[in-house]
Amino acid sequence: MNVFNRTAPTTPATPETDEMPVLRQRGQREVFCGLTGIVWLHRKIQDAFFLVVGSRTCAHLMQSAAGVMIFAEPRFATAIIDDRDLAGLADANEELDRIVARLLARRPDIKMLFLVGSCPSEVIKLDLSKAAQRLSRTFSPDVRILNYSGSGIETTFTQGEDACLAALVPDCAATGADADDRLLVVGTLADMVEDQFVRLFNAMGIEHVDFLPPRNSQEIPAIGPGTRFLLAQPYLTETARLLDERGCTYLPAPFPLGAEGTTGWLKAAADAWNVDAEVFDNVTHSGKQRATKAVSLYKQHLEGKKLFLFPDSQLEPLMARFLSREAGMGLVEVGTPYLHRQHLAAELAMLPPGTMLSEGQDVDKQLDRCRAAKPDLVVCGLGLANPLEAEGYATKWSIELVFTPVQGYEQAGDLAELFARPLTRRQRLKV
Ligand code: SF4
Repeated sequence: MNVFNRTAPTTPATPETDEMPVLRQRGQREVFCGLTGIVWLHRKIQDAFFLVVGSRTCAHLMQSAAGVMIFAEPRFATAIIDDRDLAGLADANEELDRIVARLLARRPDIKMLFLVGSCPSEVIKLDLSKAAQRLSRTFSPDVRILNYSGSGIETTFTQGEDACLAALVPDCAATGADADDRLLVVGTLADMVEDQFVRLFNAMGIEHVDFLPPRNSQEIPAIGPGTRFLLAQPYLTETARLLDERGCTYLPAPFPLGAEGTTGWLKAAADAWNVDAEVFDNVTHSGKQRATKAVSLYKQHLEGKKLFLFPDSQLEPLMARFLSREAGMGLVEVGTPYLHRQHLAAELAMLPPGTMLSEGQDVDKQLDRCRAAKPDLVVCGLGLANPLEAEGYATKWSIELVFTPVQGYEQAGDLAELFARPLTRRQRLKV
């Protein structure tokens, strides 16, 4: 469901402390809600089930975003809050307990159950954290039951993953005081991308590497003061804060998109582990070369083209850095729903001087700026893509970057191809 939100007018804010001026906008915006994260999270944690406690609208969103799974038992569903619940005529907690009991009796393969809150569950003030505690008493230790909110009023869709991972952090066991140093990679990555990174870290001598989220609920990593973590995604503010509270150390780094971002990301871990510079170069050299070569195949379509990024996935500053530095694109405007300056510091430092950054949205004004600039490619959410295509613009859905394996050296060519495809397609249609 698209959430349209009208609040305060645009405020051009440039606090003196900010190194790069940012246009902050607080007007009508258009984003998907955090339930969308279930689409990639349910594929990642393979014994988890996501039970949305929401309305038929939430169910429709999930169904259309994730498609219908024909060959497998689904691992998400919606417990519908109906009129009787909304009117306070039914005890929603009792109904929820009944649904969960039925689900877990039918599906012994479920080892972790997320109760996912929505706008309607928040409206009727259904306390899902209490429900999770209550149900845990019944079903633990066979099933872990956790909760988080995917409600969409004031959020953007990638925050659903942040809320889910933040719910997992209290479940991470504490490492002992004498535990070895361990590296934690935080943020959903495709399994094959994780495997590639593990090989690179191991070749550098970093032996103990964990991932959050894990592939399986039995593999939730232990954490503690010996844990240093790299963010694989830029939208994990709350998860990072909770890891920090548990004594883990954040490793500042760019994000692993493209040859340059991947090298900077790996280097942050290498430096923390005092990996010899020559060893690092030996381990990364061929991957870096392969990535650069793969991107060069698409550079001819991208170089010199003007790019406009609307705020949607929070990946926009990373895409802008990659496309400007490795593919030669010109940046018209780089919009992002939220700008976390600490986590994005390395990315912002690599953007070309004078890049127009905007945070938040006032969609009509932003569309005017976009039309005035006549970009060659617009990266935006699904709601804007069709109208802009109809106006003659080539567009790319930013949500594709969270569904497609794009991180790491071996995926750099696929990443560039994602952006080249709408341009070459348009070219072909003209011929
Ligand atoms: S959680 Fe809210 S924004 Fe998301 S689909 Fe449900 S009602 Fe719509």
